[in-house]
Amino acid sequence: MAKRDYYEILEVPRNASQEEIKKAYRKQALKYHPDRNPGNKEAEEKFKEAAEAYEVLSDEQKRARYDQFGHAGLGGASGDFSGQGMTIEDIFAQFGDIFNDFGFGGFGGFTSRSRSGGGQRLSRGSNLRVKVKLTLEEINKGIEKKLKVSKYVTCDACSGTGASGGNAYSTCSTCRGSGHVTRVTNTFLGQMSTTQVCPSCDGEGRVITSKCHKCGGEGVIRGQEVIPVRIPAGVAEGMQLSVSGKGNAARRGGINGDLLVIIEEEKHPELIREGNDLLYNLNLSFAQAVLGGQVEVPTIDGKVKIKIEPGTQPGKILRLRGKGLPEVNSYGHGDLLVSVNVWVPKNLSKEEKRILEKLDESPNFKPPKGSSDNAFFDRMRNYFE
Ligand SMILES: [Zn+2]
Ligand SMILES: [Zn+2]
Repeated sequence: MAKRDYYEILEVPRNASQEEIKKAYRKQALKYHPDRNPGNKEAEEKFKEAAEAYEVLSDEQKRARYDQFGHAGLGGASGDFSGQGMTIEDIFAQFGDIFNDFGFGGFGGFTSRSRSGGGQRLSRGSNLRVKVKLTLEEINKGIEKKLKVSKYVTCDACSGTGASGGNAYSTCSTCRGSGHVTRVTNTFLGQMSTTQVCPSCDGEGRVITSKCHKCGGEGVIRGQEVIPVRIPAGVAEGMQLSVSGKGNAARRGGINGDLLVIIEEEKHPELIREGNDLLYNLNLSFAQAVLGGQVEVPTIDGKVKIKIEPGTQPGKILRLRGKGLPEVNSYGHGDLLVSVNVWVPKNLSKEEKRILEKLDESPNFKPPKGSSDNAFFDRMRNYFE
């Protein structure tokens, strides 16, 4: 059977707004609602057809594909289009909330159901946040940290079921084991019956009669877990890593929360981090700056010797390429910027003063005039680039 046009099914113009589409679907869905047309196969088909049309037209992406390519644009590799195979229950699960604001509560109860399972509502454990403090050395190499975390863990006495012993269950008396309850309400359209997940058993169809003594039927207890966390090189203060499923355990066999690891950076005694670059302030003695020579500077992985040219001025910046920190999840590396400072002695003996005064008489000790030369400008620009 050739498929009908979705706009035709919902009886809306092709430029209909989302609000119009929603209204039109609601009208069709109510008209062909199975409860109002019991045993009517044609109405059921129409009900499914309307849901399929709504699934596409209410989703801007699918609608755009449909507008451009028609039905052929939807069956594709994405595989997310399920309209044709939808059961009545699926339709309520997916679009049930559309009836709610119209005064037909109840369908919404399906929305949190697991679609493939037997109707049980899955609980979810909460996420946990932990901070981890790292040194710059650890950040430089990347590290595996074993984090000891206090959290809800699966109860070992009942393996998370919350029940004690094999015959700990009895059939739920509220729903008689079906996992859902049907409620009949009077509306202006006549009697409507709506189906909800059973509130007594959460859709499980059975209740625990003999609860686990250790966890009181919850399936989880307070405990500790040591969780290895792989931290990549180059992370920075405030970054957050997520370890899936390592947060709090969920009640009675649900889905665990995630562990969120927040990075904190410890101050390095000598190096300052600026992005992926590292900065070091090198103090030279007056004689070292005048005469030049080799000096040691610290880097993130040990000391290195660098050469100081004779006559090095204070304020000069030496760039050691690649001696900074690695970029996170990349091959790049920052630099180490060594800023040269010349230490001026404050306390001199009479003898030292005399020698210095003598030296200062030499024309070689006379500084050049002015400071706004090109060297000054380059130095400043290098620093800020
Ligand atoms: Zn237990
Ligand atoms: Zn029940």
